[in-house]
Amino acid sequence: MSAVPLRSNKAAASAVRSVTVLGATGSIGDSTMDLLRASRDRYRVEALTGHTNVQGLAKLAKEFGARFAAVADPARFTELKEALAGTRIECGAGESAVIEAAARPAEWVMAAVSGAAGLKPALAAVDRGATVALANKECLVCAGDFFMERAAKAGACILPADSEHNALFQALGSGNREELIRVIITASGGPFRTWASADIEQATLAQALKHPNWSMGQKITIDSASMMNKGLEVIEAAYLFALKPDEIDVLVHPQSIIHGMVEFSDRSVVAQLGAPDMRTPIAHCLGWPDRITGPAARLDLAKIGQLTFEAPDFQRFPGLRLAYDALRTGRGATTVFNAANEVAVAAFIAGQIRFGAIARLVEATVEDWIRSGNLAPLTSADDAIAVDHNARKKAATLLPQIALKAS
Ligand code: NAD
Ligand code: MG
Repeated sequence: MSAVPLRSNKAAASAVRSVTVLGATGSIGDSTMDLLRASRDRYRVEALTGHTNVQGLAKLAKEFGARFAAVADPARFTELKEALAGTRIECGAGESAVIEAAARPAEWVMAAVSGAAGLKPALAAVDRGATVALANKECLVCAGDFFMERAAKAGACILPADSEHNALFQALGSGNREELIRVIITASGGPFRTWASADIEQATLAQALKHPNWSMGQKITIDSASMMNKGLEVIEAAYLFALKPDEIDVLVHPQSIIHGMVEFSDRSVVAQLGAPDMRTPIAHCLGWPDRITGPAARLDLAKIGQLTFEAPDFQRFPGLRLAYDALRTGRGATTVFNAANEVAVAAFIAGQIRFGAIARLVEATVEDWIRSGNLAPLTSADDAIAVDHNARKKAATLLPQIALKAS
């Protein structure tokens, strides 16, 4: 049975829903807190987590009367304790405290940590059978071999919060698995959609951070510019909905109004549309199985006038091709793909490599790993984390030669 409730008759959620937000101080966290703020009487905050921004975390914990606050950086425990002095909010620091936050009994958990660091906390929520709104796509990319299976076993319900996957989630209910031909994930194309390869190669950090439509955290914004984000999303869709690589297409759609589509056997294509605002998919997850009032701008198609589409360019955006390759290879390849990309993005931010070298580092790391012959299905978080750590180490050792190599 799938952990994504495509055709659910689940009873409506309880009147006051307890919620936990992992990554509350980030961009998705901020949108989630915004939605909770608008319906204070419907939600009670169990736990909130952040990484280094203690003051922001403490402010949110006090505002929402959270029962527990956790900061991932262990060195910041005293600062958090002081910031929460005089309140009844319990607190903790370090990875174990973030996992504890996820394990506490909230009915609904937003998994919005950035990167593979979110895997263990997300699994802690999954293992106790919670409803988990999953924004943290790296969890699936890193641990896709077993994440959904474990969720299904625990009776957890995974609600896709990533906008494209949320769109697919909404559209997939129009038919059944046997009737499905393919899903289509749209991509804005990012800031370099029309750029020549040579210019993409030399793009600066400031240019990569200028996303045309979405306002997001730094890592995902850079991933959008390289289209690695779309690659991660192809892998995310494969694991979320148990799809084969050939059943997932990417379509460039610069206006970001259609987020995802599903084609069925009768040739019907069912799409979900909305203004590019993450509060819409998050509101869908927060209200599910009902719908709540969303704060995003209402869609005015007459004003927008035109929706346009292009095929993705796998030459100029090799990250997309590498993602499909990793998905086809399976058995840990997507874990390596994700880890190498995290290392590459950090190196690009630090000015150590050119933008164009991000994909080259990912390709070299995955190739090295395939050559090493260590391919085997991952069965536990420790397996996935070991592959992730080794891939990061390998990527770091390959970094200097990739940095020197011109395209
Ligand atoms: P962000 O960088 O703005 O926020 C990340 C959050 O995770 C912060 O609260 C940060 O404190 C926390 N965090 C970072 N490193 C951590 C660590 N090592 N341990 C514990 N906590 C840590 O990122 P974001 O844009 O909100 O993205 C969060 C996730 O959602 C990512 O996986 C991203 O791909 C996904 N996502 C984001 C968007 C978006 O619009 N921002 C859309 C779709 C999916
Ligand atoms: Mg997305």
